[in-house]
Amino acid sequence: MVTFLAGGTGTPKVLDGADRVFDPTETTVVANTGDDVELGGLLVCPDVDTVLFHGGGVLDTETWWGIDGDTTATYEELHRLADAAGLESGPRYLSDDAQTSGRDIARWRRFSGVAEFMRIGDRDRAVHLTRTSLLDEGRSLTDVTRLLADAYGLDVELLPMSDDPVATIVHTPEGPMHFQEYWVHRRADPDVRDVEFRGADRAEPTPAVRDALADPVVIGPSNPVTSLGPMLAMDAVADALEEAPVVAVSPFVENEVFSGPAAELMAGVGYDPSTAGVADAYPFADAFVLDSDDGTALDRPVVRTDTKINGVDDAARVARAVARALAEVS
Ligand code: GDP
Repeated sequence: MVTFLAGGTGTPKVLDGADRVFDPTETTVVANTGDDVELGGLLVCPDVDTVLFHGGGVLDTETWWGIDGDTTATYEELHRLADAAGLESGPRYLSDDAQTSGRDIARWRRFSGVAEFMRIGDRDRAVHLTRTSLLDEGRSLTDVTRLLADAYGLDVELLPMSDDPVATIVHTPEGPMHFQEYWVHRRADPDVRDVEFRGADRAEPTPAVRDALADPVVIGPSNPVTSLGPMLAMDAVADALEEAPVVAVSPFVENEVFSGPAAELMAGVGYDPSTAGVADAYPFADAFVLDSDDGTALDRPVVRTDTKINGVDDAARVARAVARALAEVS
């Protein structure tokens, strides 16, 4: 058995070839939910959905989000209507009162659907509608995710990190903003002063996640701050990782990031934006997989390979390196 901890790009990229190395029926993927938002009343879970769509063979692997070839008729109509009504686009937060009312799972991440600020595809939207409706029927996010995973024919077990709300809030000189405003709307432009995982002190990993963390754990090359941070902010997860054999793949080659805002976010919370900083962020990791060009000296075992992933063969190569590293520490 093996458990992968996933954000929406780095770890899913490794999963693309992991089934050649790890039996999918013995693989659990725990997905970050700190990036989730409620948009126009629908709960959107970007990292869960990347794994879902990937497992179902429909992921857009140019962007690593959304469904390949999806249309955006509803999204476009929302913008046409807002324009015609003279309503401003951009993230439209609901009032502070509304942030703590309604569905508990969506606390501190509720946005109006007017001029929807995230580009939600039409088929993609059907997933959010189904998910939210099942939640409203009284099911947990874990149960709903299982149903969706069955619908997409996933071989691995996919779990949200928690059934409780954790909202990733980026603190900037312009004030606090949800991670999706910072990343999707502002393209990581504002300076990062701090990152808060609102709700994490009251959130718990689910029993299924606790079970999964008793197995060897792989942290793929996901963003340590916004993809792993929300999980690590739950004490029970951090404690479990101290006990389990853990291998982490760096999303950096020394101080070069492959993509995304990991460097800015790492610096903003006080870590060196580099592989060395990743090792500091993961004191519980027992071994690392680093790129062959990454000469960072670490105090723990390292397996090196080409960690650039562009397709299934690359992913399988990184997964094999992960298996070698796990063998050293299990
Ligand atoms: P997000 O939820 O979309 O932000 O995605 P993740 O947190 O799962 O992954 C983002 C991280 O993936 C970034 O920090 C990238 O550096 C890393 N990444 C993207 N492509 C690659 C790759 O080909 N190899 C490695 N090692 N890391 C990658």
